[in-house]
Amino acid sequence: MPMEAIFLGLGSNVDPKEAHLSQAINEIAFSVGPILQCSSLYRTKAWGKTDQSDFINQVIKIESSLSALVLLDTILFIESVLGKVRQGKWGPRKIDIDILFYGQTVITTERLIVPHPFVQDRNFVLVPMMEIAPDFVHPLQQLSIKELYEKCEDKLWVERIAAL
Ligand code: AMP
Repeated sequence: MPMEAIFLGLGSNVDPKEAHLSQAINEIAFSVGPILQCSSLYRTKAWGKTDQSDFINQVIKIESSLSALVLLDTILFIESVLGKVRQGKWGPRKIDIDILFYGQTVITTERLIVPHPFVQDRNFVLVPMMEIAPDFVHPLQQLSIKELYEKCEDKLWVERIAAL
């Protein structure tokens, strides 16, 4: 059976931000599966709580034989290894890793919601994802990433800063 394309959203707003993202990618490649594509890095204003450092965001496409729940556990473990300390909702984060899509799979459990519920509302997810997978169709919205971006009313500023 062909493996599902999995998209992860990465973010950091604690220096050195780029280093935290690349450490996370190394850990994901080691314990989750091959990295198929990486978006550029994007600088974005902190969403929801503006009195903190800008975020660096990135979307990656990976392949994995892990189930979605085991993937979540592995991601949470990687976040803890990299020293994530939650300082409240929308507070500063060394590293945040979200499962955006697990192929066309839809999951609604207490611990895991896939597609990630904010995908269609956040430019910091849609803009990097549009760079690597503009035609990927959201399984619930039945719209492509490009179409979701055109509909999205988020005014948050997202600036492309570098390609890896
Ligand atoms: P946060 O630290 O705000 O990113 O929240 C992490 C928690 O969100 C995890 O412990 C998960 O149980 C939960 N969660 C629900 N859906 C997702 C998802 N699609 N990706 C990552 N975490 C998720």
